[in-house]
Amino acid sequence: MSEWSDYFEDFPEENPANYVGGKFDPEGAKRAREIEGNQSEANSEVNEMLANAWKATKDRSFVQVDECPQCGLVELNVYKIKDSLYLCECQDCGIYGQGCSHSEALKITENALGEGLDWRDKPVPWSR
Ligand SMILES: [Zn+2]
Repeated sequence: MSEWSDYFEDFPEENPANYVGGKFDPEGAKRAREIEGNQSEANSEVNEMLANAWKATKDRSFVQVDECPQCGLVELNVYKIKDSLYLCECQDCGIYGQGCSHSEALKITENALGEGLDWRDKPVPWSR
């Protein structure tokens, strides 16, 4: 790594990071990287806000704990997010499912048996 950065210090025109739109422009490239960095920081702040809002929604929407169809433990949290959106998530094995009703969400969770789902891999539903 350091050999490359030494090399690029001596030959900045050889560094692909110094090009913007195919033109050698180290200053422009630096500005573009700063803007990109700010945007990615803003994006991660927004994502964190959305994740926190989702967690708060779930906390408010908790209905009951059922027996998990996969691991058999009484760890299947049921959430009523909206009148027509129920969500099941096992706190132990991670299986999940959602549906328009409690029974449909449970059925979809049962249908996912053995698929290796884990809601913790995709904690926010819009990434599933
Ligand atoms: Zn389970």
